[in-house]
Amino acid sequence: MTAWNQHAREIAACMRRLYQRGLTTTSGGNISVRFEQDTILMTPGGTDKARIKAADIGAMSLHGERLSDFKPTCEAEMHLAIYRARPDIGAIVHAHPVTASAFAAADCPISNRLLCESYVILGEINLVQYQTLGSPQLAAAAAAAAGKYNCLLLQNHGALTMGSNLLQAFDRLEVLENAARTTLICEHLLKAPARLIPAAALPELQALQPNQPPPEAG
Ligand SMILES: [Zn+2]
Repeated sequence: MTAWNQHAREIAACMRRLYQRGLTTTSGGNISVRFEQDTILMTPGGTDKARIKAADIGAMSLHGERLSDFKPTCEAEMHLAIYRARPDIGAIVHAHPVTASAFAAADCPISNRLLCESYVILGEINLVQYQTLGSPQLAAAAAAAAGKYNCLLLQNHGALTMGSNLLQAFDRLEVLENAARTTLICEHLLKAPARLIPAAALPELQALQPNQPPPEAG
């Protein structure tokens, strides 16, 4: 099996897993992986996310040329713009998980300081101001917001996570939704902001964070 086919199988399996976990809808969400420096493999548009298979995965150049016969997702340029801005990124997962998306719509921050896992895996979370889905403006805003963050909330749209590989990007999407649910439950229980991990304990957790992004990449 070629490396391309192996990546395509992993992308399709990851997309089905995202759907099965209830983290996106049948039509929503897209995943991409940097295959070579200038070649991005990605999920197509208009495909049932529960049934997507390796043969559905297509390839685009970093600057938007189709390198295989497929219909790119309408968010292709958002992925490509982020890869151009962040040479350190190897994979992107974009989906519409309900709780994280609700926080993005409500303009409420998701706390990454309620659970050690959230702080270590997510780092800081950045908000992308509302832009129409599939638009060049959304692509530009997401790429600008990605600067030194691996987790983005897209206002009135959903979430996007990045990683050095697909598993890391997927893990961040899942942990982001868990952090949103944890924030919601703590705030409901306490009727007030929950107790954060003490600031003095953070350096110890920072030492456990993988792949610190460059301070101001792109
Ligand atoms: Zn979307």
